[in-house]
Amino acid sequence: MSDPSAPRFIPLVNQRPAALGIPQAALDRHTLRPAQGLLADTRGRELRDLRISVTDRCNFRCSYCMPKEIFDKNYPYLPHASLLTFEEITRVAKMFVQHGVQKIRLTGGEPLLRKNIEILIEQLASLKTVEGHPLDLTLTTNGSLLARKARALKDAGLQRVTVSLDGLDDAVFRSMNDVDFPVADVLEGIQAAKDAGLGPIKVNMVVKRGTNDHEIIPMARHFKGSGVVLRFIEYMDVGATNGWRMNDVVPSAEVIAKLQTEFALTALDPSAPGETAQRWGYTNDMGVHDKAAGEIGVISSVTQAFCGDCNRARLSTEGRLYLCLFASQGYDLRSLLRDGSDDPMLASAIGHIWRERTDRYSELRGAQAADTGSGARRVEMSYIGG
Ligand code: SAM
Repeated sequence: MSDPSAPRFIPLVNQRPAALGIPQAALDRHTLRPAQGLLADTRGRELRDLRISVTDRCNFRCSYCMPKEIFDKNYPYLPHASLLTFEEITRVAKMFVQHGVQKIRLTGGEPLLRKNIEILIEQLASLKTVEGHPLDLTLTTNGSLLARKARALKDAGLQRVTVSLDGLDDAVFRSMNDVDFPVADVLEGIQAAKDAGLGPIKVNMVVKRGTNDHEIIPMARHFKGSGVVLRFIEYMDVGATNGWRMNDVVPSAEVIAKLQTEFALTALDPSAPGETAQRWGYTNDMGVHDKAAGEIGVISSVTQAFCGDCNRARLSTEGRLYLCLFASQGYDLRSLLRDGSDDPMLASAIGHIWRERTDRYSELRGAQAADTGSGARRVEMSYIGG
């Protein structure tokens, strides 16, 4: 417990560093490079997936993400004028799609807190990939507002949702979200999403040692055969406020070993290039994947870095382009949106930045001995989007 009489301060590491300017070379009228439907970075990684944070606010205070002591009423959340408007987001998204993006995920903060999010979804749903297909349009939510909003989200054109849920034990879950939010309401949200046709639904569980690792098996039992894909995420050293320690991480290998004490599992192939989760299917008596029983996934960004095929870019709430979840700085696309730059300039800037991309934080972290993360001033996940 923090001492309420103690002076309160926000550590320097929690302040957003200045944005990176757009490289001039990308904006020179004579050398502008239009989008050509496929971009590769310095390591040959294609740009396929865009995550857009639509708000830096959340109604949960999960200690591993937005600890109450830091994200209180004095926290300097972004003012409304700093946020990209829906029109600005859609304009940037369109340029990304012209560069080959096929999947857009809305996130945050809690994306369902952004007023009229359905309008943004409608705008994004009208975009087509360079091959002329609809985008894979999805959203990650804590589920608290899903029961109320699932139908409207589907009607607006959202295809599916990922819901975060860290356990089924009500006391454990209430303590992890730290706002006393009940499990039953999230489960109701998941059901509403299913009823609305927002599937296949994924449920993400961040596993923290000594906090909710005893919930691994009950969660698997609950979702097995339900059509929901449960995914276990290693607790990551994102941001600078969650006090991350390697000892708190439950490696995915341990999660799988624990599950195998009760369930027969077989490794499945990735369903898409650059997929974050390693898939495991429940097997039948013949040792064959039983599709009706379904599958689970593990996301091992700490113990098995997957930078090698990372095809994700991130657009922060205020329009900065980040090339890695663990980056400390992002490129200021908002300045281009607001200074009269036209679409070819915007597309050229995005292309230039991606082509120069070298990031592979998780691989490098794996090579370090320290168990406290790199200590770099990484931005918070609530700002950059999970
Ligand atoms: N509010 C939404 C939600 O709860 O899903 C979207 C934003 S949240 C930042 C996205 C995902 O990141 C959630 O599944 C959350 O559990 C996960 N997350 C946040 N901090 C994390 C950490 N330190 N390690 C692993 N996952 C984390």
